[in-house]
Amino acid sequence: MKYQIDNFKISPKDFDDLESIIKNRFKLDDFKYKILHKSIDARDKSNVNLIFRLMIETNKKINNKNVTIYEEENYNLSYPKYSYDDRPVIVGFGPAGMFSGLYLARCGAKPIIIERGSKVEERKKDIDEFIKNKKLNINSNIQFGEGGAGTFSDGKLTTSVKSKLNKFILNEFVKHGAKDDILYDHMPHIGTDYLELIVKNIREEIISLGGEFYFNHQFIDFDKDDYLNITIKNLNNNDCFKIKTNHLLLCIGHSARDTIKKLYDKKLKMTQKSFSMGVRIEHKKNDIDYSQYGEFSKYLPSAYYKLSTHKDDRGIYTFCMCPGGYVMASQSEENTILVNGMSNNKRDGENSNSAILVDVKPEDYDKGNELDGIYYQEYYEKLAFNLSKDYKAPANLVKEFLNDEVAKSLRSINTTYPHGLYFTDLGKCLPKFVINGIKNGIIDFDRKLKGFNNPDAILIGIESRSSSPVRILRNEDRLSNIDGIYPVGEGCGYAGGIMSAAIDGLRTALTIVGCEYKE
Ligand SMILES: Cc1cc2nc3c(=O)[nH]c(=O)nc-3n(C[C@H](O)[C@H](O)[C@H](O)COP(=O)(O)OP(=O)(O)OC[C@H]3O[C@@H](n4cnc5c(N)ncnc54)[C@H](O)[C@@H]3O)c2cc1C
Repeated sequence: MKYQIDNFKISPKDFDDLESIIKNRFKLDDFKYKILHKSIDARDKSNVNLIFRLMIETNKKINNKNVTIYEEENYNLSYPKYSYDDRPVIVGFGPAGMFSGLYLARCGAKPIIIERGSKVEERKKDIDEFIKNKKLNINSNIQFGEGGAGTFSDGKLTTSVKSKLNKFILNEFVKHGAKDDILYDHMPHIGTDYLELIVKNIREEIISLGGEFYFNHQFIDFDKDDYLNITIKNLNNNDCFKIKTNHLLLCIGHSARDTIKKLYDKKLKMTQKSFSMGVRIEHKKNDIDYSQYGEFSKYLPSAYYKLSTHKDDRGIYTFCMCPGGYVMASQSEENTILVNGMSNNKRDGENSNSAILVDVKPEDYDKGNELDGIYYQEYYEKLAFNLSKDYKAPANLVKEFLNDEVAKSLRSINTTYPHGLYFTDLGKCLPKFVINGIKNGIIDFDRKLKGFNNPDAILIGIESRSSSPVRILRNEDRLSNIDGIYPVGEGCGYAGGIMSAAIDGLRTALTIVGCEYKE
C-alpha cells in the first residue's frame, strides 16, 4: 500500500537520518519512501523545522491523522501528429523556444530553430571574454545564445503561474540532467553549472527527432504571401537566406530590441506594459543565512528571501535573489550597463545578492509610441555606462545611499561584480521615483529581514530588464494580427521567468498541434 504523509516535521540537523526517523516514527521494518515536497519553516528562529510531504510504500497499515492513501499524479502529455505541410520555425532557444521546440519535435514537426547566439559551449567562452577583456559579443552574451537569458542564472524555478505543466517541465529538466530535488523542493533551483548541460541535452533530443538548429543566425525580416517568407542572416558571414513557413514562433526574449523594433515596423500590433527598474544589493551570505535561520543555518542550504512593500502607489520588491551568488554584467548592447545575478547549484559563493526593483508604469515613460518603454530602458542603461565609460557599474553603499552621500570605497563586503564599481550618486542613472522607492524598500525590508540595511551592503546599478516593456498582442489561438506569427514568452510580454516562459512555449506548441490539454 502507498500512503501520503503530510506535515512530517524534522529538525534540519536530522536530514541525513530521514529514513531511520520515518522507520522509528511509524514503527516500520520493510518500506520504501519518496519525498514529494520539502519546505523550511523558519518562522521561529529558535525552532526551525523541515516540513515534508512523503510517499511511503509498506505492507503495514499506517494510522496517523496526517496520512491518506497516495494517488500518483500523471503529468504526461499526449503527442498528436503535427499535420501541416510546413516545418515550424522557432526564433530563439531560451525556455520558451526550448519547450515549444521539444514538444513540436516529439509531435514529428521537425522544427527549425534560429538562434542569434552561439551554442552553449561557445557562448560560455564569449561571456568569459567579456568578463576578462571587456569585449562584448552583441549576439552571444548573458542575454543571447543557446538556452536564452536564464542559462547563466541561479536557475530558480518558481512561478506564480498555476499549471499542471509546471510538473511536466520540472520532470523534463530532470530527464535532461537536473538534480531530482527540483521535483520536491518548495523553492527549486538548478544553478548555472547544471543548466548548461540541460540545454545541450534538450538540443540533442530535438536533433535526434529531426529538428534543425541554426546557431549564430538571426531572424531579421519577413514578407507574407501564401506563406511567411522569413529572412535569416548568417552572422558568421552576413549572408542572408529565406525560409517559408506558416508557423513562426517568436521566442525572442526581452533583450531583442532590434527584432522588436523591426516587428513594430512590420505592423505587428503591440502595446506598452509595466516593468521595473532598480539595483542589485550584495550582502554577506552568512549574514543573510543567520538572519533567516539563526543557529540552524549551519544545517541548511543558503537562505533565500523574497520581500515586498508598497509606497506612493508603486510596488517595491526584491527580485531574482541569488543565495551564494554573483552579480553579473548582463548587457547585450555595447556601452551600456545592466546587472543581474547568478549562482551555481551549491550556492556557495561568499555573497548573496538580489535586485531591489520599483514599478515603472507606462505613464512614467509614455510619449505616444508603443516602444517608449524600450527607449526609456535604453536611455538609463546608457546613462549608467557614461558615468565611468568603462563598464564599471555605478554603485554606492547602503549607509551613504540612505544619507544622500556617496561612499568612497568598499568596507566589510567585497563585490562579485566582475568589471569593478564606480561610486556615485545612483540618482544620476535612475529616475528619482526609483531611488525613493529603493530607499523605502531598504528601510521596510530591514524590519522583515534583520541586517538588510547593513551600512556596508553594496548597491550596484542598474537592473532595468526584469521584464519586457511591450506586449505583442495575440488572439486566443495565440496568433498575432499577422497570420502564422505566434508571439511567445517573455520578450513578447507573456512571461517573467524561466518557468512561465517555458509554460508559454509549451502552451503555444500544444495549441498548434491541437492537443486536448485541460488544466
Ligand atoms: C542573469 C540572469 C539571471 C536570471 N535568473 C533567473 C532565475 O533564476 N529564474 C528565473 O525564473 N528567471 C531568471 N532570469 C530570467 C529568465 O532568464 C527569463 O525570464 C527567461 O529566459 C525568458 O525566456 P524566453 O524564452 O522568453 O526568452 P530568452 O530566454 O530571453 O530567450 C530568447 C532567445 O532568443 C534569441 N533571439 C532574440 N532575437 C533573435 C533573433 N532575431 N534571431 C534569432 N534569435 C534571437 C536570443 O539569443 C535568446 O537566446 C534571469 C535572467 C538573467 C539575464
